[in-house]
Amino acid sequence: MKWNLVRRARDTDLVTCSLCLRVRRGSAWIEAEAVITELHSYELDVPPRLLPGVCDDCADAILLRRARTAEAIAA
Ligand SMILES: [Zn+2]
Repeated sequence: MKWNLVRRARDTDLVTCSLCLRVRRGSAWIEAEAVITELHSYELDVPPRLLPGVCDDCADAILLRRARTAEAIAA
C-alpha cells in the first residue's frame, strides 16, 4: 500500500478556533458537538483534519485586551 504524502485540502477539513474550540461552518462558528452531530464525523473512514484558527469573537476579545493594555501603558 502506497501512502500519498501530499497533504491536500479535504472536504472534511475543519477549521477550529484554538481558544473556544468552536468550528467554522461557512461564515459561522458553531459548537464542535453540533458539527460532529451534523457530519457524523465518527462514521468517516478518515477522521476530519482539524486546522487551527481564531474565531471572530475570540479575535475581537484579543484586540480589545490589547487596546486596554496599550491604554494602561500610555496612561
Ligand atoms: Zn473562539
